[in-house]
Amino acid sequence: MKTSYRVVIVGGGSAGISVAARLLRQSQALMGEVAIIDPAKKHYYQPLWTLVGGGAAKKEDSERSMGSLIPQGAVWIQDAVTSFSPEENALTIAEGNTLTYDYLVVASGIEINWNAIKGLSENLGTKNVCSNYSYEHVDYTWETIRSFKGGTALFTHPASPVKCGGAPQKIMYLAEDHFQRSDVRDKTKVIFGSANPAIFDVEKYRLALEKVVERKQIDARFRRNLIEIKADEKIAVFEHLDTHEIEEIPYDMIHVTPYMQAPAFIRTSALADANGWVDVHPYTLQHVRYANVFALGDNANLPTSKTGAAIRKQAPVVAENLIALMRQQPMPATYDGYSSCPIVTGYNKLILAEFNYDKQPVESMPFNQAVERTSMYVMKKDLLPIMYWDGMLKGTM
Ligand SMILES: Cc1cc2nc3c(=O)[nH]c(=O)nc-3n(C[C@H](O)[C@H](O)[C@H](O)COP(=O)(O)OP(=O)(O)OC[C@H]3O[C@@H](n4cnc5c(N)ncnc54)[C@H](O)[C@@H]3O)c2cc1C
Repeated sequence: MKTSYRVVIVGGGSAGISVAARLLRQSQALMGEVAIIDPAKKHYYQPLWTLVGGGAAKKEDSERSMGSLIPQGAVWIQDAVTSFSPEENALTIAEGNTLTYDYLVVASGIEINWNAIKGLSENLGTKNVCSNYSYEHVDYTWETIRSFKGGTALFTHPASPVKCGGAPQKIMYLAEDHFQRSDVRDKTKVIFGSANPAIFDVEKYRLALEKVVERKQIDARFRRNLIEIKADEKIAVFEHLDTHEIEEIPYDMIHVTPYMQAPAFIRTSALADANGWVDVHPYTLQHVRYANVFALGDNANLPTSKTGAAIRKQAPVVAENLIALMRQQPMPATYDGYSSCPIVTGYNKLILAEFNYDKQPVESMPFNQAVERTSMYVMKKDLLPIMYWDGMLKGTM
């Protein structure tokens, strides 16, 4: 096996594949010189899991084999990175080998800590405890919603960064809509227990979502952090993040968004900031201490919402800046913190939030995107997956 590459990319998820495709499109010289290290056999289009949990898509459609997505000219090393030695431009992989690079791109995603909430991991997928954040269990969300006969339906948002900040509430709106259709809404209380201080942190969309919550008569309780599930008794235990009071909420079904954190092998590395995320410059995406290292996607410490949509804007910045650096030119590209969250508010309804680092809306449509629209729902369901597989991962959009 070749042990030295011009560019090594850690992670073959949304970010890693997009950057590899762009680098290879932009520089012929990189053919055979880009290595993607990822142990996973499968790659997932995770945004679809919201619709899978809501019974509106099949989970198999979110999955492709990793091998089929590796761009031509890139080499896939099917292994996990275990440690970094950025001073030596080297890293080690689980097999024990050391690889060296001229340039490194870190794109290993976020780590879900299923054990941070007591009682979650052992009960997930049974006893009406469900989560869209697991490919393995996402079908169980729909099974739970579909067979729900009334009572309290509880949805949670943890006290940590999450991938797609809107996803914890999207599934709640779909479930509420389904309860209307299945005639159980009258005997159902829907509760949102969220660690956040408000329903959304961009004012324009917050105001619109507050109206959705009111219309749907959802009992939204903020600064509430789920700390334990007593699955046999069907009780969820929350801690109030300001008063530290403990509150027990009995439920009949619970959808949990688990605690998330920077991956362990990043947290413990020289690349991490004090919170464990890869420490990059927010505009250039270049590492703040190692000039030949870049990071993007969920594992980067960018102060914006962690989404695939954000990566669509980050990938061209990393590719252009890295190639410029390679050619000893000034880095031309900057990232403005763009992220987007297609907030499904029911079957056939969606608010398309798009915003930047300043939490200001940056809308791409010629209409007010805070209005719930069927056209935007169709875009999320039918158009965005095509754009992802055939555009973003090919480095063309
Ligand atoms: C339920 C849900 C709904 C979502 N909805 C949306 C949405 O509507 N819109 C949107 O834009 N985004 C959405 N997202 C978020 C989006 O899926 C993520 O932000 C995006 O996938 C992050 O891409 P990434 O490349 O950083 O990480 P990932 O795509 O998760 O890929 C990380 C890769 O790194 C690999 N890896 C991990 N550890 C190692 C290691 N040690 N060595 C080598 N490789 C490693 C993994 O195997 C994986 O392949 C949603 C996510 C979920 C779960």
